Amino acid sequence: LTEKEEFFVLILGLDNAGKTTFLEAAKAKFGEKRTKSLIPLTRKYDGKNSDKAPLVNTSKITTTVGLNIGRIDTHGIRLNFWDLGGQEELQALWDKYYAECHAVIFTVDSHDRERVSESKAAFDAMISNSNITGVPLLVLANKQDLPESMGVREVKPIFQDNDEKIGNRECMVLPTSGLTGDGVVEGIEWLIQCIQ
Ligand code: GDP
Repeated sequence: LTEKEEFFVLILGLDNAGKTTFLEAAKAKFGEKRTKSLIPLTRKYDGKNSDKAPLVNTSKITTTVGLNIGRIDTHGIRLNFWDLGGQEELQALWDKYYAECHAVIFTVDSHDRERVSESKAAFDAMISNSNITGVPLLVLANKQDLPESMGVREVKPIFQDNDEKIGNRECMVLPTSGLTGDGVVEGIEWLIQCIQ
């Protein structure tokens, strides 16, 4: 039995940005190996967000208050995802994981214009942490299935505004919908190509 090369990917972003839904969609696309939720789940999907048929059963997804873990085996490697809670109190815990991770997925709710600056502040705090300097960074302009959402052309300059802050790391802003699965495979494959 050969040991698979293992990588750790952090999924960050404000609460309600769609982190858990994205992870579920990725697992659905690539085939889930093992998953567990370490903290009891609280809020249920109300089905009001979109009239598109969801890729995953969103009734089982709730806002992350703790940590969800997902695992995908693909391209001969193993990806371990840590989906961390995005509430302000929980953002303080993000940096405990920085030293261990090989890539970061930062999820933006493109439909929530009111919280873009809050999201950007959390993003800036994250990228300026020296423990993840140089770690590849995938920014999801998520919820693209909602008609009023900001497009990637609007989201990209907000988050990729300053090369100095982004530094030498690989960075891509990608339009996605965790609900329909659009962009999910492209995003994961981009990350794999960066970390290998
Ligand atoms: P988290 O707190 O970042 O983990 O966010 P969740 O994955 O729990 O999603 C929060 C809410 O946004 C839920 O109601 C989801 O169904 C919804 N949601 C997540 N991703 C999308 C998406 O791509 N499109 C739409 N329309 N809704 C989404």
